[in-house]
Amino acid sequence: MCEDHEMRCSCGASSASIMFRDEIFPEEIVSRVYCPQCSAGVEFDAATMVADNGWIIEFDMEVAEYFRDRAPELTGAITPEALFDGGYATWRGVYPGEHEDSARERQELLELSRIDKARYFKEFKQWGRKRMERLRQEGWRKAQAS
Ligand SMILES: [Zn+2]
Repeated sequence: MCEDHEMRCSCGASSASIMFRDEIFPEEIVSRVYCPQCSAGVEFDAATMVADNGWIIEFDMEVAEYFRDRAPELTGAITPEALFDGGYATWRGVYPGEHEDSARERQELLELSRIDKARYFKEFKQWGRKRMERLRQEGWRKAQAS
């Protein structure tokens, strides 16, 4: 069970869906989210932040430390990277807003299926792989491992 929470960024121009794996940590471990606009004015602190392609998630490491017993598989120091990469508090999807883009792209494909079935099947087969490749090149953190 993964709940996701919509969080507005610090300047209010954007928002990100953040997913908390199995609700192990409460959403309070995320203190702020910065979009590419507002992250420019932030001094990056590796002790509390993860940067991803212009976005920054700032964690409340005290809260994370307080709840650390709930994640016994997290051995060693709890770091922002461990929280993000382990899925304890991470984007829903590969990047903020991916589920909206993904839904739109699927819709476009669906429209193509009405016009040109053969091309639709061809495009659909390549769609997942091609977009993952694009996201990897764009530099999104969650696209790097695959
Ligand atoms: Zn912002």
